[in-house]
Amino acid sequence: MRSYFPGLLGNEDTRNRIGRAIEAGTIPHAFLIGGPSGSGKSTLATEIAAALNCEKKADMSSPLPCGRCNACRRIYGGNYPDVKILEKKKDKATLGVDPVKDFREDMFLSSTESEHKIYIIDDAESMTPEAQNALLKVLEEPPASVTIILLAKECDRILTTIKSRTQYIAMSRFDDKTLSEWLLSESAEARTLKATDKAKFAGLVMSADGRLGLAKQLVGKRLLDESAEERGEIIDLIRAVGQKASYAGIYAALSRFPTKRVELSASLERLMSALRDLLVIKYDEGAATVFFPTAEEAARLCGEISAKRLVAVYDAVSEAHELCSRNANVSNLISSLCSNIRMAANN
Ligand SMILES: [Zn+2]
Repeated sequence: MRSYFPGLLGNEDTRNRIGRAIEAGTIPHAFLIGGPSGSGKSTLATEIAAALNCEKKADMSSPLPCGRCNACRRIYGGNYPDVKILEKKKDKATLGVDPVKDFREDMFLSSTESEHKIYIIDDAESMTPEAQNALLKVLEEPPASVTIILLAKECDRILTTIKSRTQYIAMSRFDDKTLSEWLLSESAEARTLKATDKAKFAGLVMSADGRLGLAKQLVGKRLLDESAEERGEIIDLIRAVGQKASYAGIYAALSRFPTKRVELSASLERLMSALRDLLVIKYDEGAATVFFPTAEEAARLCGEISAKRLVAVYDAVSEAHELCSRNANVSNLISSLCSNIRMAANN
């Protein structure tokens, strides 16, 4: 069987349905793709654009899109004149009527070189009602060989009249199994991590939270090992607290934390989320955890430290986190955090 949209993960039914429609020349002139960020909305839009213009569209022995022909490569590279993307400006809350009108007019110009022109509107829910109405006009009578694709996180904010003139595709977050399979197939680091430390690998998959975009980032930036290492640092620090470590013991654990403000702040946040997990687990052994991959792992560590001490340490870390965001000197901050944690650990 022909494979459709090999660049997209999961979403089997959607891939087959749209792939076959493109092949048969029966795709609707407009789509509304809805789903949380990182669920692959933009990827699907790019794949549809490539499939429509792929030079191997009629070749049933090739995947659709092929990913290798001139059109596919230029579309993936964002370098194709007949695929246009409209999005709101970063500093604006909404997408106004004027850019949408310009976009609409462009649809009526003849195509530069290809069979299909694709118009993608990202964060379509940010369009003002006036802008949505301007778009509605073209959705009622679209020019031939134009495909309009709207991407939205919150489809409730899209006018019903627009929804009724588009084909809706729901994208869902990926389950952990799909994400981990993808990571293992794409990344050598992921394979090594899974072979050496299954729990840490599971933690990484969980921290991607079903978002393929984030998982890709974790691999792309080679953060895999770093994030596994950081989890170790956090757990070691909590252990030191449980063992009522000396100032030097806690300082040694803290000195492994990053020294750059932004990274330190992120690490303190994760430390807080680990401490919150432990507190929650104290009262409900089966509760869902955020930092720990499994409730069991949290429960094991939980036995080493009292609730009272957890709360005191949490307060000390939260204060340090606050100071971090207020530009306090980082090394002073670490020293005072160290004394405060030591006090908390010994009360
Ligand atoms: Zn192609």
